[in-house]
Amino acid sequence: PEPVLQIEDLSVSFTSGGVTADVVRDLSVTLDGGRTLAVVGESGSGKTMTGRAIMQLLPPAARARGRIVVAGREMLAADERELRRVRGSDVAMVFQDSMSALSAYLDIGAHIAQAVRLHDRSVSRREARMRAVDMLERVGIPEPADAVRRFPHEFSGGMRQRAVIAMALVNRPALLIADEPTTALDVTVQAQILALLRELQQEYGMAMLLISHDFGVVASAADDVLVLYAGREAEYGSLRDIFERPAHPYTAGLRAATPRLDARLERDGARTRLRAIPGAPTSLRDAGPGCAFAPRCGLADRVGERCAVEVPLPVPRLGCDRLHRAACHLDHLPSLEELVNR
Ligand code: SF4
Repeated sequence: PEPVLQIEDLSVSFTSGGVTADVVRDLSVTLDGGRTLAVVGESGSGKTMTGRAIMQLLPPAARARGRIVVAGREMLAADERELRRVRGSDVAMVFQDSMSALSAYLDIGAHIAQAVRLHDRSVSRREARMRAVDMLERVGIPEPADAVRRFPHEFSGGMRQRAVIAMALVNRPALLIADEPTTALDVTVQAQILALLRELQQEYGMAMLLISHDFGVVASAADDVLVLYAGREAEYGSLRDIFERPAHPYTAGLRAATPRLDARLERDGARTRLRAIPGAPTSLRDAGPGCAFAPRCGLADRVGERCAVEVPLPVPRLGCDRLHRAACHLDHLPSLEELVNR
């Protein structure tokens, strides 16, 4: 079957103060139904812009080029009417800040019912409301028949995020984009929400693009991982390859800071922020002519001049169970033990 999401040579440019510069450059990736691709990176890495480009929900100053196909639809060629149809039906999004996705003046049931009727006008209001109750039950909200009549501010952060997930998934989209869906929540609730997303994903067979800055979250939820640095792909591979055989010094740094792959079991201990790597992240706009990671890279001295003058492009790496690429001039990284002990 066709992948649910195809991204080819995606670049996103941003204009400010009369200057236009790319914030995302040349991303290519595919994602099949039932799988989760984590897009991981620090602020300025372009991960949120990538998610918004897929939805075609970019800020007015931003523009995407390249190709994005969701469930067979060309997103960059679609007009606003088509996009409205696609959003919420083929592709839905969940954000970090659930309050911004909800209106203070509508009860939770009305939000979900509205999503149902936007997708299918032939559904009656009553039927849509009943679907809202079912969906709230499905996402684990207690007493759903009462909960539909409650307003967003009456819910806790975790319950509100469940309601937003209910709204996003009520039309069974082929693709869910979850942008830092658990960042605002405490660790226990975070684990519950990730477990819920995985469960619903399996049940619906949908693809999920999980945007996160937290390698622990990635470890507990992803099948494949795209590591972004300063708007470009640093590394792409299966979760196992990324954790066991990182081929980019940036990924290796993240990995060294995240104790164990069985973070799926030991989530709390493995929650590690990307800040663990010394130095400040660069944006594509500020990057020089060479590798954007060079100022923070402890291995640049092994390569020499090339790191400073030539942008490394993603190339396939060997010895892995799925497609694995890294954008680094080094052919082989030192072992993780050596990196940790440097
Ligand atoms: Fe480090 Fe050079 Fe590889 Fe960039 S290309 S990550 S600076 S070794």
